[in-house]
Amino acid sequence: MNKVTTIQALRAATSAARAQDKRIALVPTMGNLHAGHLALVQRAQQQADFVITSIFVNPLQFGATEDLARYPRTLAADQAQLSAAGCDLLFYPDVTEMYPQGMSGHTHIQVPRVSETLCGNSRPGHFSGMATIVCKLLNMAQPDLAIFGEKDFQQLTVIRKFVQELNLPVHIIAAPTVRAADGLALSSRNQYLTAKERAIAPALYQSLGNIGSAIIAGARNYLALAQEAQAQLSTLGFRPEYLVVCNTEQLQPAQPEDRTLVIAAAAFLGNTRLIDNVQLTL
Ligand code: AMP
Repeated sequence: MNKVTTIQALRAATSAARAQDKRIALVPTMGNLHAGHLALVQRAQQQADFVITSIFVNPLQFGATEDLARYPRTLAADQAQLSAAGCDLLFYPDVTEMYPQGMSGHTHIQVPRVSETLCGNSRPGHFSGMATIVCKLLNMAQPDLAIFGEKDFQQLTVIRKFVQELNLPVHIIAAPTVRAADGLALSSRNQYLTAKERAIAPALYQSLGNIGSAIIAGARNYLALAQEAQAQLSTLGFRPEYLVVCNTEQLQPAQPEDRTLVIAAAAFLGNTRLIDNVQLTL
């Protein structure tokens, strides 16, 4: 696997691939790769001939009090995993390559409404920073398709909206959440958990699953289901930020007549913020 750090070298590699009529896929990540990321690479390989993974911890999507400085950076291990998985190219730019004029005054992509709910309430600017870097990466690599995880369901929704509304010529593909054996969604942030917190953490997914089962069994008082689950999580030691039964298109609180739902939650365990979601079609 080749590694490039400049946009110029990335473009040279994608031009060469395109000249050979190869279908190009991009898998954007922030590194510290785990089996969830590698599943995206695998999915990309099924649908394309030339797979690019990018690793860039994007300062623009981190709030002032968030974990930018301590976000785990593990390039050597990531590179080994990507090579073993058969990824064709690693794009590993630094901040200067991505923001040569600095970040202040940089053009931002704002994605109204779907950015403003759920995580958007507690992470102002996050989705704008994320959408901006994803748009830049798409323009740099010009892939035929790009793969994102359903684990970050709101992120996926925001990306789909700006790609459609800005007419970007790329297929956005969603890949299912990869979980540990006990149900906890894999995340680079799981390693912040203490052993005690890690033992409690799977309860988040369990409570989303329980709500899903209740809805399938006919329950329609979504607010009551969510409030009850939040109370249970609090008893276990979580500090829930939100837990909402939403419609999948607008990410607004679901109405009884909605047929495609996502039960989404964010909760702190100690200093670690976990997110998860379960999708449901009635
Ligand atoms: P990140 O490095 O956390 O920014 O994630 C990069 C990509 O991997 C995003 O599209 C995430 O949604 C996806 N991803 C992260 N964790 C998982 C997981 N457990 N299962 C599937 N995809 C994931």
